[in-house]
Amino acid sequence: MIAVQPFEYVRAGALTEAIGEAGTDGSAAYLAGGTTQLDLMKDGVLRPSRLIDITRLPLRGIEHHEDTLIVGSLTTMEELAADPVVGRRLPFVREALLRSASVQLRNMATIGGNLLQRTRCRYFRDRTVATCNKRAPGSGCGAITGAHRTSAVLGTSTSCIATHASDLAVTLVALDATVHVTGAEGPRTIPLTGFYRVPGEDPSVENDLRPGELITAIEVPLLPQEARSHYLKVRDRASYEFALASAAVAVTMRDTRVESARVALGGVATVPWRAVEAEAVLTGAEASVALFRTAAHAAVAGADPRPQNAFKVELAQRTLVRSLQSVTGVNS
Ligand SMILES: Cc1cc2nc3c(=O)[nH]c(=O)nc-3n(C[C@H](O)[C@H](O)[C@H](O)COP(=O)(O)OP(=O)(O)OC[C@H]3O[C@@H](n4cnc5c(N)ncnc54)[C@H](O)[C@@H]3O)c2cc1C
Ligand code: SF4
Repeated sequence: MIAVQPFEYVRAGALTEAIGEAGTDGSAAYLAGGTTQLDLMKDGVLRPSRLIDITRLPLRGIEHHEDTLIVGSLTTMEELAADPVVGRRLPFVREALLRSASVQLRNMATIGGNLLQRTRCRYFRDRTVATCNKRAPGSGCGAITGAHRTSAVLGTSTSCIATHASDLAVTLVALDATVHVTGAEGPRTIPLTGFYRVPGEDPSVENDLRPGELITAIEVPLLPQEARSHYLKVRDRASYEFALASAAVAVTMRDTRVESARVALGGVATVPWRAVEAEAVLTGAEASVALFRTAAHAAVAGADPRPQNAFKVELAQRTLVRSLQSVTGVNS
């Protein structure tokens, strides 16, 4: 049995109070829906000295603007999925949300927490395994030498090959969403495409947040009225499972040509993976399955598979091709 490290619990009544209580030494953690933070604390993997409950802060709800949504970070996944504008103008965001976790979890889990769930593999939360550079820096990577069937093939390093698990983040990266944060140094915005960090030598650093910074909102551009989008998630079982590979695709068409394309991959990379190479292949070209295959090939050109997860390189390409077929209606 693992003893949970004693910690102080603070319920913040105001944003400034939350930030002040968090400090800047990185020893505190925020608590939103708690669906992953508390799990990892019970496993003894996360050991904050202070847990700051932010659920009473006025950060819940969706502001509708002409071309964007401002989604408060405490909005639940289920609330965002149920938003009528999301259904009309961002259907792939709704698909990604409804294919995540379970309805019970989505009613608790927040958008901010979803974006900040740890990039992890099974060894990260298993403290009986000594080797995990993310949990114990410098200890090695248990997945590289052990089980890595579900691990990443893109954006990996010799330190860590864990996949980023958020489905929502894949669509938001494709949309060029922006994260609004605030901390001891005041508010700032960070483009989501630059927010996540590939592991490099230090996999414990997963994003650009400074210690104590809090996500207040996510700014999500709406797709053009005429755009078509789809999120396809392939997994070992049909529900309540993380992606082996996923593809978020949004296109506008001019007759039979692809006028514009937004493409991102999930389940195969250490960060939500924007596939700009695939977008370049698609943009302005005549839609065909052959074109989609070329785009998919470009999307995984930098893949670095290992013996058990080499199948993901092919799976990611097929997932992307199928998703493109679905949004364009082109099947030959
Ligand atoms: C069984 C299970 C299955 C799942 N399946 C899926 C799936 O298929 N797809 C998917 O995408 N996700 C899945 N998830 C992950 C789930 O979506 C996340 O656990 C959830 O979104 C986290 O949100 P939360 O509000 O509960 O965050 P918490 O657990 O409260 O926090 C998560 C992390 O974010 C930090 N944090 C939270 N809010 C903020 C904020 N506003 N600013 C700064 N830091 C913050 C916390 O300190 C913590 O580090 C699954 C989770 C479980 C337990
Ligand atoms: S892949 Fe990353 S999280 Fe998994 S054991 Fe290796 S270092 Fe740890």
